Amino acid sequence: MTERETAGARESTTLLLAKAHYPVTTLGPGRRAGIWTQGCTIHCPGCISQDTWEADPATAIPVSAVLGWLRSLDRVDGVTISGGEPFQQPAALRELLLGIRTWAPPEVDILVYSGYALSRLRRSAESRELLALCDAVVTGPYIGRLNSQDFRHLWRGSTNQRIIPVSELGEKRYGDAEGGETRPHMQMSVEADRIYYIGIPRRGDMERLTERLSLSGVHGGEVSWRP
Ligand code: SF4
Repeated sequence: MTERETAGARESTTLLLAKAHYPVTTLGPGRRAGIWTQGCTIHCPGCISQDTWEADPATAIPVSAVLGWLRSLDRVDGVTISGGEPFQQPAALRELLLGIRTWAPPEVDILVYSGYALSRLRRSAESRELLALCDAVVTGPYIGRLNSQDFRHLWRGSTNQRIIPVSELGEKRYGDAEGGETRPHMQMSVEADRIYYIGIPRRGDMERLTERLSLSGVHGGEVSWRP
């Protein structure tokens, strides 16, 4: 996102944002915009995104700037919102979802990841309203021992998590769970002094990757999947 997109967007609710990336091809079907919120108190053991746990106020950005970035993209088949825990920022998530609904053509789907179980999300009227603005949600905490080696579980970190369509488009895109794709899928993005892995690693993938890189002379510093 450019400074220009951030400027002039001061009126909007702020979102604690870990990262925005395009194209994302590993978290839902098609070429997607990926938005990762910053801040998560769920703290699943084995979470690979521990860098998104702290609700760091320095990551605050107006929601309208995120929407401006989305509008600048050429071809978007869907938007994936993950975290961090998006539902821990309900006001910003609401404004973001409403803004995407206003901007996006009807064939652009919205997939939101949450570490909360669906039953918990449905308990609150505020979360129910947010759910109604999505096309599908992936719900439930990450449980390391349920991380599947079965590559049909393409868009879920562990098999306890559920992919739940909540609209007609969501049913079409996500009713068949992971869309019949059968291969593991991870992307890499290099930005400034950080390397981001985007997607769902299988158990041991990150350790194997670190080891292979190390054998090739690439030594990582801090990593997000260890405290
Ligand atoms: S897996 Fe998701 S819900 Fe669980 S601690 Fe990590 S960011 Fe939070």
